[in-house]
Amino acid sequence: MATSAYRGRFAPSPTGPLHLGSLCAALASFLDARAARGEWLLRIEDIDPPREQPGASERIVASLHAHALHWDGEIVFQSRRHAAYAEVVARLLAGGHAFHCNCSRKDLQADHGRHRAACPRSATSPPGASAVRLRACATRYCFDDLILGRVTLPSPAGDDDFVIRRRDGLYAYQLAVVVDDAWQGITHVVRGRDLLDSTPHQVFLHEMLGVPPPRFAHLPLLLNADGDKLSKQNHAPALYDAEASANLLFCLRALGQPVPPREQHDDCEALLRWAIAHWDRTRVPHVDLGVP
Ligand code: GLU
Repeated sequence: MATSAYRGRFAPSPTGPLHLGSLCAALASFLDARAARGEWLLRIEDIDPPREQPGASERIVASLHAHALHWDGEIVFQSRRHAAYAEVVARLLAGGHAFHCNCSRKDLQADHGRHRAACPRSATSPPGASAVRLRACATRYCFDDLILGRVTLPSPAGDDDFVIRRRDGLYAYQLAVVVDDAWQGITHVVRGRDLLDSTPHQVFLHEMLGVPPPRFAHLPLLLNADGDKLSKQNHAPALYDAEASANLLFCLRALGQPVPPREQHDDCEALLRWAIAHWDRTRVPHVDLGVP
C-alpha cells in the first residue's frame, strides 16, 4: 500500500459496540488526521473470535456513520489477513528471531509469568500445539509520545520473549497490529493509554521487520464511578447513536478541545468541520477523566 504524509487509523476490536471511551479514541484519531490533511482508515481487528460479539463489527460501522466519522478507502478486516501474518511469522522463525515454545501456563507461573530460561526455544515445530514467541533482545523503551512527551517504560520487549502466535493458532494482537500498520503505511497511531504498555513491543517488532514505527499519541481514559476504565468488559453502556452530536460534544470536552457555537451543535458534519479547524493536540489532558 502507498503511504501519504499522514495516515492515521481507528482499529477497534469487535468485542462489543462502541462506548463513549472508544468514541473519544475514534474522534481524536480522526481529528488529528484531518487537521493534518491526512487520511484516516478503519481497521476491524477481528482476530480473536472467542472474544468477539456477533454483530459488533456492523454496530461499530453504523455508529461511526451516525457520528459522521467517515474513513478513507475500504475497511480492512484482520480476519482476512491471516496469510500475511503467517508469512511474517515464517520469516521471523527462518531468521532465528522467533521460536516455538510449548511452555505450559504452570511453567510460566513458576517464573512469575515471565518466559522461562529453560525453554528449549525450538526452531522447528515440536509435537503438539505450540506458541511462537519473539526472541527478546536489547531495544529502546523510550519514545516521544505526541501527547505525553518523552515516555520511558519498563522494558518488556527487551527482556522477555513475547507471543506472536498463540498456542491455539490465533495470531497475537501485537503481531497483527504491527504487520497491518506497516502494510497500510500508518504514520500516526492515536489511541487510548491502556495500550501504552504495548507500544515498546510494537516498536520492537517494527524494528525487527525493518519498518520505521509510526508516531504514537496516547489519550487519557474515561473512568467510571469506580475508577475503572470504561470498557466492554465492565459493561460501559453502548453509544446511543440517536444522540450522536451530544456524544461528539461530550468527547470534545473530554479531549480538552473548545466546543463549537450553539448553531453547530445539532449537525455532526458541521460540528466536525469546526472541530477539525480548532483541533489542538496540546490541549488533550494527560490524566484520566472521571465520567459523571
Ligand atoms: N484493537 C485494539 C482495541 O480495540 C486497538 C488497537 C490499536 O489502536 O492499536 O483495543
